[in-house]
Amino acid sequence: MQALGKSNDIDKLDSVLKEIVLEYINDMIFIMKVEEGPSFRYVYINESARRATEITKEDMGRLLEEVLTVELAARLKEKYIQLVENEEKIIFRDKVCLPGGQQVVNESILTPIKNDSGIIEYVVSITRDVTPVMREKKRLTNAKNRYRSIIEHNLDAIFILDAKGVIKESNIASGQLTGYQKDQLVDKTIFELFHASVKDDLQKTLDDALTGRPVTLDQCLMKTSDQKEKVTSVKAVPIIVKETFDGCYIIVKDNTISYKQNEMIHYMALHDQLTGLWNRKALDEHLPLFVKSMEDTDQELSVLYLDLDRFKFVNDTLGLKGGDRFLKKITDRLVMLTDEECLLYRQGGDEFVYLLKNSSLEDTKKKAGEVLSLFHQSFTIDGQEFYISPSIGVSMYPADGYDANSLIQKAAQALFQVKEKGRAHYRFYQTHMESSFPNYIIMESHLRKAIEKEELFIHYQPQMNLTTGDVDSFEALIRWNNRKFGFVSPGQFIPLAEETGLIHGIGEWVLEQVCIQLKNWRMKGYKNVRIAINISPKQFLQEQLVETIGGYLYKYGIPATCLEIEITEGAMQDTQQTLRVLKELKELGVYISVDDFGTGYSSLNYLKRFPIDILKIDQSFVREIESNQKDSAITTTIIHLAHSLGLEVIAEGVEKEGQVSFLKEANCQKAQGYYFSKPKHPDELEHYVLM
Ligand code: C2E
Ligand code: MG
Ligand code: MG
Repeated sequence: MQALGKSNDIDKLDSVLKEIVLEYINDMIFIMKVEEGPSFRYVYINESARRATEITKEDMGRLLEEVLTVELAARLKEKYIQLVENEEKIIFRDKVCLPGGQQVVNESILTPIKNDSGIIEYVVSITRDVTPVMREKKRLTNAKNRYRSIIEHNLDAIFILDAKGVIKESNIASGQLTGYQKDQLVDKTIFELFHASVKDDLQKTLDDALTGRPVTLDQCLMKTSDQKEKVTSVKAVPIIVKETFDGCYIIVKDNTISYKQNEMIHYMALHDQLTGLWNRKALDEHLPLFVKSMEDTDQELSVLYLDLDRFKFVNDTLGLKGGDRFLKKITDRLVMLTDEECLLYRQGGDEFVYLLKNSSLEDTKKKAGEVLSLFHQSFTIDGQEFYISPSIGVSMYPADGYDANSLIQKAAQALFQVKEKGRAHYRFYQTHMESSFPNYIIMESHLRKAIEKEELFIHYQPQMNLTTGDVDSFEALIRWNNRKFGFVSPGQFIPLAEETGLIHGIGEWVLEQVCIQLKNWRMKGYKNVRIAINISPKQFLQEQLVETIGGYLYKYGIPATCLEIEITEGAMQDTQQTLRVLKELKELGVYISVDDFGTGYSSLNYLKRFPIDILKIDQSFVREIESNQKDSAITTTIIHLAHSLGLEVIAEGVEKEGQVSFLKEANCQKAQGYYFSKPKHPDELEHYVLM
């Protein structure tokens, strides 16, 4: 009894447990009774199944076809029949549309339950929604494919290495880069693909990567299967699996082309195109480095700043192309003195710089002497022989300066002295040179902007008619008031303007201002005024000079006879060109005067040949006209000469009454000087002179 009772309890417990398990398990459970036909009748479905489907408890006892849609019922029935016929467990997947419309994939295990006679009485279906699992699986596969594709089709070569640097896998590009087949690469070490010189760097890169730090190595020389060299950059990225390092990726980028281009650009940036020498930029880069290394090793360094004397004349004679050929020939000679300790740079134009490393005073003198003697022999250009000499300024580290800038500057100051003191030799920098070295470079940059900044203006100096006491002509004299240099005399800035070519712009500006002034005065009724302008020799050689003058006269409606052109004797070389320009000026109708007469060209021949109107006796003769017999004789002779040639004479620099008397006595028509008036602003002249 007791035993029976116990068995009853166990049965009860068993059924309760089963119910709990069946009822509350996450999987859906369907139990179908197999009937004749066969047909399948619902006898049990658990809680999960009820939740996932529209089947309810009330459906128990109904046939499959009575509960499900026709289509689903048919599909399931087919499986059930298969089970009954084969009597073997079936696992299958089925896409089902849930009541909410959501598509899910179910995985079902169908198990037969037989009665004692071995006939299948029930079918149990345990069904699970495998949609999330499948989704995750798909996601993983996609990710894996994507990642494979990133590696496989990457344009950079990618190698997968183990911790020892042995290649385990590689992508398509790695074959293209190295020239090896994919399978040839497997089991090679990465070091075999690179130049021996980068082995240590590469090893360090790997070591770093294996401790979890991605590293990049630039300019890594790779060796291809056919022993060609390629410049690459290498990136090592650790592979971390389950928090331990399991080798690394090596990504290799081929930089050969850009490296070569960079090399080329770098070369071009630092070399002079014409001569192939290092250029000024290279000098700027190298000099500070050399100074530093001399400092570290306690050695001396010299800068030889070399400028070719009168190279402009060569250019004028040979043209720019011929000048270039000449420079190349000169370079060939200069290069002969270079070696590891002696470097040559083209500083620009006809300027070169030698840097002498580790060079004592004696060494430097010797080298400078050698440079000079390179020029003892002539150069032959286009079958013509040329001699040219260099001037050399020398500065030394540390005696003359501790930095690149001051060394160059001091060598340039020494060079300036060489030029002043007769060229064709060398000089070492000395402290006294500083004061005599005007900062022409700064002055030039200011002069360039003088017109636009309205720093230039013109003063007019009256020329007194000694017979009548009237003033009907003036000399225009340019003035420059600069904010840095203050008033700069034309004696200083006109040569600079000539040197730099700025004279053309300035000269034209003067011409226009004078025409404007003439127009202004003419409108006020001073119709007979004539103004003389100074034309520098450089301007005189300008092709369009006459055209430009004619243009401004026309523009402002000024008769040519109101303008006088002053040309110095120096500019009037006895050539056909001078004669042609003077004739053209004469045809235009302007007056032509010879400025500073007596100080320049010694031949008086041209006075007869050239169409000149006026001689201006230089102030150096007038100054001592009363006391110096020679000067008074010269002055009287010039006046006579002028008259015999039918020319007018103007004496310059007249400061004293005695000079005026002398000039009157000698029949000099006009005089100009402080005695009468300093050069003045035109408004002032209107009130006191023109009235
Ligand atoms: P220059 O043409 O011989 O001009 C005469 C110079 O003598 C002027 O100097 C004038 O101011 C100065 N002077 C006039 N009377 C006396 C005097 O009684 N005593 C003394 N000691 N000097 C006197 P400035 O203005 O300094 O000009 C110097 C030179 O600059 C001029 O010599 C001329 O060659 C040049 N210059 C001036 N203006 C121009 C210009 O517009 N263009 C060009 N190309 N050169 C100019
Ligand atoms: Mg003058
Ligand atoms: Mg003069």
